[in-house]
Amino acid sequence: MDILLSLFRDINFDWLAQFQWVFMLVAAILGAYFILFALSLAVWVFRDIRTRSRDPFAIAFAIILVLVLNLPGLALYLLLRPNDTLSENYERSLQEEALLRELDNQVSCPSCHRPIEPEFAMCPFCYTLLKRTCPNCRRLLSPSWRGCPYCATRLAESTVTSDQTQEVSR
Ligand SMILES: [Zn+2]
Ligand SMILES: [Zn+2]
Repeated sequence: MDILLSLFRDINFDWLAQFQWVFMLVAAILGAYFILFALSLAVWVFRDIRTRSRDPFAIAFAIILVLVLNLPGLALYLLLRPNDTLSENYERSLQEEALLRELDNQVSCPSCHRPIEPEFAMCPFCYTLLKRTCPNCRRLLSPSWRGCPYCATRLAESTVTSDQTQEVSR
């Protein structure tokens, strides 16, 4: 009877040990999977945040958030991350700049503020002189310029402070 009991106990023990071994194996696989999953999440977030921010604190915060909180951390990150990527921001700033330049190019008369063409030498509405001609190459110049940028002619100071400039700056 004693022998039988001990045998039974042994079998029982063996079965338990085996179960424990299988359990540990499954736990190890799940753990490795979890760590890999967390790491790939962190890598994905690192790549994503780098296209959106150059701030090292923001990058570190995003990675720590995902490493600590995992999937909820990812959800938080997706909520908190900057909407636009850096290249999108850059493109938008280029567009805005182009738009501003276009607006700047919409020349208006400094005196009566009516729209004029950049080539106009005089405002057709109020006779304000807008340009003067270079004495050397005859191209139109801004009255405030002290030299001709087209033919590198220095203009005499007297012509700069002529009635023309005063007329325009008035
Ligand atoms: Zn005018
Ligand atoms: Zn010139």
